[in-house]
Amino acid sequence: MTGTAHIEDAAEMSEPVEACARPRAPLGLLAELTYRCPLQCPYCSNPLAMEKGAKELSAAEWGDLFRQAASLGVLQVHLSGGEPCLRPDLEDILKSAVDAGLYTNLITSGVTLTRERLENLAKLGLDHVQLSIQHTDVGKADLISGYPGGVAKKRDVARWTIELGLPLTINAVVHRHNIEDLPALIDYAVEVGAGRIEIANTQYYAWALKNRAALIPTREQFYKSLEIVNEAKERLKGILVFDVVSHDHYAVRPKPCMGGWGRNLIDVSPTGKVMPCHACETIPGITVETIRDKTLADIWIKGDAFNKYRGTKWMKEPCRSCDRREIDWGGCRCQALAVTGDPCNADPACALSDWHKEFAGIAETESSAPPPPFIYRRIGVPAE
Ligand code: SF4
Ligand code: SF4
Repeated sequence: MTGTAHIEDAAEMSEPVEACARPRAPLGLLAELTYRCPLQCPYCSNPLAMEKGAKELSAAEWGDLFRQAASLGVLQVHLSGGEPCLRPDLEDILKSAVDAGLYTNLITSGVTLTRERLENLAKLGLDHVQLSIQHTDVGKADLISGYPGGVAKKRDVARWTIELGLPLTINAVVHRHNIEDLPALIDYAVEVGAGRIEIANTQYYAWALKNRAALIPTREQFYKSLEIVNEAKERLKGILVFDVVSHDHYAVRPKPCMGGWGRNLIDVSPTGKVMPCHACETIPGITVETIRDKTLADIWIKGDAFNKYRGTKWMKEPCRSCDRREIDWGGCRCQALAVTGDPCNADPACALSDWHKEFAGIAETESSAPPPPFIYRRIGVPAE
């Protein structure tokens, strides 16, 4: 059965929908299994106010959610966090996703994995591993992650992944402390046998926004990094696939944030909040529902958070009459709110936004000053 058929089945089970009848089926689900993590990356996208000891969904609750997701049309589940390997019941959670027929991707820092555990996950049906790296240099990696000894451990995890026959993606968040070392990060991905590298310029939300002045590269550094990536893409055709997330402050047009609000992706927090985007709770007045209270189909089709900025009806000018409005969907609502004060404005990453010049100017000013020390990401510690 196709995804569309699934969502139509789900829609028939529900009340008539006013805001957006029969949205298309979601493709992917980001399962944030826990916010706990041994690393303390200053660019982490987890919320600033992570509750200590909050009641995480059980393996049985994740299993039920995955079955609902599969019947709604979801094809892939990304097991993420925090660090998903800190869940002692990760095996049960993975198995339920595999049994539901979902393609499974483990997004991990790797530092707590053992070969035995990874082998067991592979036997249970894990489809793909996405391993994050901070740097190839030990001192710089330890400084960025706030965790000593990660480099050697990550190399082991990459090697085990390949030995076990699993596809591997290397993920590197890029900022002023590693952007000039991009060639080494790309070489690393080739050396360890990855088939794909995700080079993600830092997105300035949550902890990254707190650390913006410490992280933001100069415009020249960013343009140079594009040259490096373009050269490497050409040279490594057939060896390594590149997935690049651009730098908002130096962009001309925004990204289609989350592939368009409420169009492709569902984010589920450790305690079961079902969201169109992990930062959406920063938008005042948005009602986020949980899988403990409602079905996934109900929340996807009728939920306030998903319908608030789905489609184009909510848009103001210049997005409303722009011919890119169904390409980038006006960019990011959370960034529009943070910079312009109104989530219905165009993302300031867009050169057509009245705030774009100021937005780009912030980057120029902060990146030309010496970087302040990192504010490390910690649970239960106020980020101020
Ligand atoms: S970005 Fe760093 S601190 Fe945040 S979850 Fe990933 S590895 Fe942990
Ligand atoms: S005006 Fe809006 S829709 Fe047009 S390119 Fe800019 S952000 Fe995208």
